[in-house]
Amino acid sequence: MSAHSYARLFDVIVAGGGVSGCAAAVSAARCGASVLVLEQNGYLGGTLTACGVGPMMTFHAGEKQVIAGFMQELVDELAARGYSPGHVLDTKQYTDTLTPFDAEGLKLILDEKLEEAGVCVLLHTFIGGVSREGDRVSGVTISNKDGLQTLAAKVFIDATGDGDVAAWAGAPMTKGRELDGAAQPMTMKLKYAGVDAKKLRAHVLANLSRFPAMREHADLLERDIPMDLEGFAEEVAAAKAAGELSIARENLLMFETGRPGEIILNTTRVIDHDSTDAMSLSDAERIGRRQAGELDAFVRKCIPGFENALLEFTGPSIGVRGSRQLVGLYTLTAEDILSRKPFKTAIAHSGYPIDIHNPKGEGTESTFLAERGSYYSIPYEIMVCEEIANLLVTGRCVSATFEAQASVRLSPSAGAMGQAAGAAAAQACAADGDVRAADVASLRDTLRAQSAYLD
Ligand SMILES: Cc1cc2nc3c(=O)[nH]c(=O)nc-3n(C[C@H](O)[C@H](O)[C@H](O)COP(=O)(O)OP(=O)(O)OC[C@H]3O[C@@H](n4cnc5c(N)ncnc54)[C@H](O)[C@@H]3O)c2cc1C
Repeated sequence: MSAHSYARLFDVIVAGGGVSGCAAAVSAARCGASVLVLEQNGYLGGTLTACGVGPMMTFHAGEKQVIAGFMQELVDELAARGYSPGHVLDTKQYTDTLTPFDAEGLKLILDEKLEEAGVCVLLHTFIGGVSREGDRVSGVTISNKDGLQTLAAKVFIDATGDGDVAAWAGAPMTKGRELDGAAQPMTMKLKYAGVDAKKLRAHVLANLSRFPAMREHADLLERDIPMDLEGFAEEVAAAKAAGELSIARENLLMFETGRPGEIILNTTRVIDHDSTDAMSLSDAERIGRRQAGELDAFVRKCIPGFENALLEFTGPSIGVRGSRQLVGLYTLTAEDILSRKPFKTAIAHSGYPIDIHNPKGEGTESTFLAERGSYYSIPYEIMVCEEIANLLVTGRCVSATFEAQASVRLSPSAGAMGQAAGAAAAQACAADGDVRAADVASLRDTLRAQSAYLD
């Protein structure tokens, strides 16, 4: 594609190429819309490829698969090409299953899926401004190697995670928890190669009394499935007492990726920073890397199996769990999740618990749906606001309270919401572009035809 040939009127512009943006783009294109994705990184996948996050959690509620559609297509393709073992039992049984994957495989497959669907993708492109006329977004201003330009579309989908487009268009937004505006901590991931995972497992199995999170389902550690492992609290406490670790987390959380010897460490914790404030985000990256440096020295010295491991990379970017949320036609609450409130306008489901990493320090608070194997519904109205006719917001910045966002933000549900946003955008383009007036019954039919799970 020659320079500037993307500067034409698209039906749908998707801001952000994370899983929700990619799902939205493919879904809209498959419904017949012309689609442009704008992404600041040089690759797709967002948090899953740019922040070292994995595994995807969770497609299931008990034995029932409650997220399918585009996200399952990705898993099928990853598995078929050896980039994922598919859905496996969670060795910690925090969730029923988790889905390890190779981030390089995901980048490649997302490129292919968007290309096959005929989506135009513009990488290395940052959206820095939004223009609005009346109750419509009229354009987004981008910056890339072609300079500055403003692009127009009939419908815009904000899949930036931070809700950049919605916020700059003047949509009502909240940030952080109601109490004090604090967000969940950001985390700089570490990805290791060459971990002696056999030795690590053997150590855990031989010392189960010191691994309370792993005790109940220790038999799973003896099976040949990638590990979800939490523990080493005593070692962490000792390192903190010795002044070797300054991370506001009380133990280590790690995941095998499915590649032999590769492990992701989800343990650094940058608190009191804001990903929507440029300087604060910049500081968070540096603090995250400093914590990663401490952690690297610590695990190689203290954790069996890591002695000769190699830190492949940090990040590349710090991971953001939450920032701005849209104030939509409906705001999903913890009560809706825990009571499994039925919605006639459900466009996706999830069985993931409410999982809050303490915004102010150590500790993680998890609230599970009362019955193991149960799941909740996600209504269409959390992606739409009263004030703007042609804007959908999807992924982790949908309209949800701080607590509810701590569940819907996970990648399978972010992708499932994205798929719905894409189909809704295409539907609106075929009418007058007003997403507030969506025929959700017809949208649900379209999603079912796209193999999404809706009960
Ligand atoms: C530390 C951490 C651990 C996590 N652990 C798990 C886990 O184990 N399992 C799981 O399933 N989920 C996990 N999650 C959650 C999950 O990864 C994300 O919430 C989910 O992937 C979000 O997808 P998204 O598409 O909504 O947003 P993102 O993945 O954030 O994608 C947004 C995209 O928009 C782009 N973008 C943003 N602003 C602009 C702009 N102005 N211009 C252009 N492009 C822009 C970004 O570069 C990015 O590619 C974790 C998240 C974090 C941070």
